[in-house]
Amino acid sequence: MYNLYEILFKEYGPQGWWPVNGKYSKNDFSIPRNKKEKFEIIVGAVLTQNTSWKNAEKAIANLRKANILDPVKIVKADKKVLAQAIRPSGYFNQKAGRLKLISDFLLKNKDISRLPVEDMRNKLLGIKGVGPETADSILLYAYNKPSFVVDLYTKRIFSRIGICKNTAKYGELQGLLHKKLKKDAVLFNEYHALIVEHAKRFCKKVPECSGCPLGKLCKKRI
Ligand code: SF4
Repeated sequence: MYNLYEILFKEYGPQGWWPVNGKYSKNDFSIPRNKKEKFEIIVGAVLTQNTSWKNAEKAIANLRKANILDPVKIVKADKKVLAQAIRPSGYFNQKAGRLKLISDFLLKNKDISRLPVEDMRNKLLGIKGVGPETADSILLYAYNKPSFVVDLYTKRIFSRIGICKNTAKYGELQGLLHKKLKKDAVLFNEYHALIVEHAKRFCKKVPECSGCPLGKLCKKRI
């Protein structure tokens, strides 16, 4: 697991996730620096569900422009107005409802970060519309908690390499990663971002294996 990380890091360098205010902060793990940045990451984790980050970013920019990128304002906002603002992210009516629920949750659970990670995770999973990937993105990138984010790219790359089956469930793969890696938020932060980068550059839906930096250790179970 570590060798894979090292190869990817050598190939692509630091990624600087999660982008806040449109900026990636390479080698700076102090993000989020304040409540505002934390909330922006949480909103981004919801808005990027089933869409590209580019679309989620446009929706966040609209919320900022409308001056409602704030949990109190989102709870109070007219749902139709909120939905229009986040339209670029797709499923905008559904996501407007989810943003309202998560904002309300955050306002009522201001001390959530004091809980053990598993308890935090269970609480987040209790919010309608928050699944494991969204919960882990929030834990890792908004709260700097070591909870590995497993997405389609993770499963695709690890199953092709031969680390897991392509039928592996979310919890199964995350459990394996948590077992094999040191539970370190900085490591998990970079690792997930590097996986995404690799999936975009080489390990696409139809993989481009020629020149792939992981070629030598990959079983190419495509
Ligand atoms: S060799 Fe091919 S299948 Fe394996 S990780 Fe690289 S791109 Fe993906």
